[in-house]
Amino acid sequence: MVEAADAADVATLVRHARATGLSITTQPNGHGATGNTAGTILLRTRRLDTLQINPATRRARIGAGVSSGRVQAGAAAHGLTGLPGSSPVVSVTGVALGGGLSWFGRTHGWVADSVTAFAIVDAEGRERHITADTEPDLFWALRGGGGSFAIVTALELALHPAPSLYGGRMLWPTEHAPAVLDAYRTITANAPDTLTLWLDLLHFPGAAPMVAVDVTYLGDPHEARELLSPLDRLPPPLSDSRRPMSVAELGSITAEPTDPGAGLSHAELLTTLDDVTAKALLTEPIEPLLSVQLRHLGGALAHPSDSPHGALTEPYALYMFGLPTDSTRAEAVTAKQRALAAALPTSGRKPLTFLNPSETITDAFSPNVVKRLRDIKRRHDPHHTFRANFPVES
Ligand SMILES: Cc1cc2nc3c(=O)[nH]c(=O)nc-3n(C[C@H](O)[C@H](O)[C@H](O)COP(=O)(O)OP(=O)(O)OC[C@H]3O[C@@H](n4cnc5c(N)ncnc54)[C@H](O)[C@@H]3O)c2cc1C
Repeated sequence: MVEAADAADVATLVRHARATGLSITTQPNGHGATGNTAGTILLRTRRLDTLQINPATRRARIGAGVSSGRVQAGAAAHGLTGLPGSSPVVSVTGVALGGGLSWFGRTHGWVADSVTAFAIVDAEGRERHITADTEPDLFWALRGGGGSFAIVTALELALHPAPSLYGGRMLWPTEHAPAVLDAYRTITANAPDTLTLWLDLLHFPGAAPMVAVDVTYLGDPHEARELLSPLDRLPPPLSDSRRPMSVAELGSITAEPTDPGAGLSHAELLTTLDDVTAKALLTEPIEPLLSVQLRHLGGALAHPSDSPHGALTEPYALYMFGLPTDSTRAEAVTAKQRALAAALPTSGRKPLTFLNPSETITDAFSPNVVKRLRDIKRRHDPHHTFRANFPVES
């Protein structure tokens, strides 16, 4: 395992790997590790930790080891926001290299759509600045094709105005799930792009099953309350954390675990959330899963995107999660995920950052995109020096 202190260190490491015929796998934290690191040098990037925010140009230069939470804290001080996902501990680079689904994707598209440049070390051990103008193919591949093409040492991200944010979680006992899902469908059917709602069916060990709605609104709290009024007509929730908040506090909404763990996930993109789908989702308890999450997509995510995934046209994402505490449990979790996926109208593809270790890039991208990514890999890393968690090579 190697920890690089700066880009020059990374360049030295790549030249060493080339001279010795080894490959390198880069992991900021290992949240997305798939276990295929045998025979590789593991590069940790946490010391590539520089963060520069320029409020005048609304640009951030973000070291490869910088977490999403740090960018949010820095941007919040200037009334700006990056594009955070649900967890503040993952690296912005790890998320952006997979496209990246953020709380504000409906307003601003993929996280990768806001990346304006990558600082990389290429397979020859050279430090380079990659933009859409200097290297259009490589820039495209880095905006969502994963870590197969180079080691990113920093990236430049466009920040977005966020003068006011309202957000939080409402939680009910599971018997209200049909009514909560109804309200969720009503609100998301007409939501402005600045409003994002996720719905969670939750069943934590030792606790009663519950249903939650997580919300963010990039705008005035009174407008948010008005848009969310169908939720206020439901039975009173067990808890309601909705409030005006700083963009630095987004991670508190779902309060996900911060250490990498061995969970089993399975994601799908839903083509509709009609009556039949809603019924199928709630037919049975989610046990042995811990959570089933629906994320409302659409808005800017459905716009054209010069990235491997391109436009994300499905209206909802489904993310199912369980813990493999032993082999019997692991089988039960996987079987439940498969059964639920089979009962719902799915498109068959999914975002790269939502793939599980049994899946490959062919589950994320169309055959044409896979072909283009493989061609770029052959041209930029013919010796397979870089090994990603989801490799593009066949
Ligand atoms: C709690 C939690 C919540 C999440 N929420 C979201 C979400 O809301 N939206 C979303 O899109 N995703 C989400 N994810 C998935 C997340 O984006 C991926 O797991 C991502 O890979 C995590 O980044 P990381 O910093 O842990 O990177 P790691 O998992 O350590 O690395 C992932 C891969 O990225 C590549 N990579 C990373 N850094 C570099 C680099 N500097 N150079 C070259 N390649 C590199 C490598 O191929 C590496 O194998 C979540 C994950 C967790 C654990």
